[in-house]
Amino acid sequence: MKCLKCGFENQPDSRFCLKCGELLALDESNSSLGNVSSGNNGSGLAIASMVCGIIGLVVCIVPIVQAISFILDVLSIIFGLISLVKKREGKGMAIAGVVCGGIALVLYLLVIGAAYSGASKFI
Ligand SMILES: [Zn+2]
Repeated sequence: MKCLKCGFENQPDSRFCLKCGELLALDESNSSLGNVSSGNNGSGLAIASMVCGIIGLVVCIVPIVQAISFILDVLSIIFGLISLVKKREGKGMAIAGVVCGGIALVLYLLVIGAAYSGASKFI
C-alpha cells in the first residue's frame, strides 16, 4: 500500500505509514466512500428527473390526477437541468427527463387549454 502523503511503499496490511506515520487505511476508505456517494447523488438526480418525466407524461392525460402532472413535469425539468448543468452522471437519463417533462408540460397545457375553451363554449 502506497502512502498518499510521502509515496513510501508500505506493507499491504499496515494501517500507518512506516516513514511519515500517515494513516493509510482511513485515507483509502474515505476516498472510496466519497466516490460512491457522489456517484449516487449524480445519477440519482437524473433518475428522479426521468421517473418524474415519465410519470408526468402518463398522468397528464388522466383527468383526475392531471394536477399532479404539472408538479411532476416541473420537477423533472428542474432535476434534469440541474443534473445537466452540474455535469453529473446519467446525462442520457437527465435529457430523457427534461424531454419527457417538457412534452408532458405542453400536453398538460393543451389539455387544460382545451378544457377551458371547451367549457367556454357552453357559457
Ligand atoms: Zn508516508
